Amino acid sequence: MPWQDQLVAEHQKRRENNLWRTRYEVGSPQSVEIRREGKSFLNFTSNDYLGLAGHPRLAEASALAARKWGAGTGASHLVSGHQSPHHALEEELAEFVGAEDALLFSTGYMANLAIPTAFLDRGDLLVQDKLNHASLIDSGLLGRADFKRFRHCDTKHAEKLLVDSKARRNMISTDGVFSMDGNIAPLAELNALAKDHDALLVVDDAHGFGTLGRNGRGSTNLSGLKIKDNLIMMGTLGKALGSFGAFVAGDRIYIDHLKQSARSYIYTTALPATVVEATRAALRLTKEAAQERQHLKNLIAYFRKEATTLRLPLMDSETAIQPLLLGSESAALAASKQLEKDGIWVTAIRPPTVPKGTARLRICLSSNHDFNHINQLIESLTSITIEAENVEA
Ligand SMILES: *Cc1c(COP(=O)(O)O)cnc(C)c1O
Repeated sequence: MPWQDQLVAEHQKRRENNLWRTRYEVGSPQSVEIRREGKSFLNFTSNDYLGLAGHPRLAEASALAARKWGAGTGASHLVSGHQSPHHALEEELAEFVGAEDALLFSTGYMANLAIPTAFLDRGDLLVQDKLNHASLIDSGLLGRADFKRFRHCDTKHAEKLLVDSKARRNMISTDGVFSMDGNIAPLAELNALAKDHDALLVVDDAHGFGTLGRNGRGSTNLSGLKIKDNLIMMGTLGKALGSFGAFVAGDRIYIDHLKQSARSYIYTTALPATVVEATRAALRLTKEAAQERQHLKNLIAYFRKEATTLRLPLMDSETAIQPLLLGSESAALAASKQLEKDGIWVTAIRPPTVPKGTARLRICLSSNHDFNHINQLIESLTSITIEAENVEA
């Protein structure tokens, strides 16, 4: 069959199975009120947890940097693209999370690809939580090490995978906050396990960095852990920080090793200084955002209380990610479409992003929401309650 015909058939099947993905053209900055194809929506889809993506201070920092540094870096970090803003941001990030050193990456995806491939080789062992982010899963598939997955948040299962390991090096990797579920990994247990088995624990804190722990230091801080010894963290800068990019933080020996061998660090152009300066402004705002974090907590508690009263299929999450488990792809899509009619945007998350039978509405809260926004969401959700209860998870 010719290529085109094969793809047409494949796409047809995707549509029939309610798995076709759609993107929308957005005509306004990221915000809780957003324009989508000419229509206004109350937005519960973004990872902009502190409302920084459209913050004037970030835009201003970026504009100033454009005048000072130009638009592009023109080279990778190890050639001539590592400019003073990058260097300063790395120092600030390391200091903030309490690590010896930090290294900037262009995206979280690239940082995650780098870690196991730089540290592990044939015969080594990588164990990951089953519900880890796609980029972590991909890093396991890309690397040469044996790659095993443990049941979600099941430290005992992870231990079982490690006890028999004859590997020279073992690595455990987990999301700090699970991106599609919103729950927090058992980090203290995993850290103890890592210590017992001389493994390196890698925490992907894309959703915890900026929102959890003291001053937003993240899920490791919340769990009472230090970014040192056998623990390294990856944080992203495009979520709570409202900018773009990512970093890995940990003892200098690990960071030095990444500089030497992380292919997704070495073979790519350094981030523009405009982005880096926006991130530096975001980091300053994040440290001071105690009120915003408290407000976000209050919104989460309020949403959960109201949703519980309505017996909505809440998942067990205490973070800004509050999914409603609907089960089938069609139920999730239908619910999202119904909310759309009320001018509310919530994404339906379907396989393969989540396991089959666990399609959901992923509601993301931001400190820029107010209680009235939650009331609007809840009111609109009441109309889909009945359908949600009829679907088996
Ligand atoms: C978003 C996300 C990433 C990827 O980060 P980007 O900077 O957007 O590439 C990695 N891990 C998790 C858990 C994420 O949610």
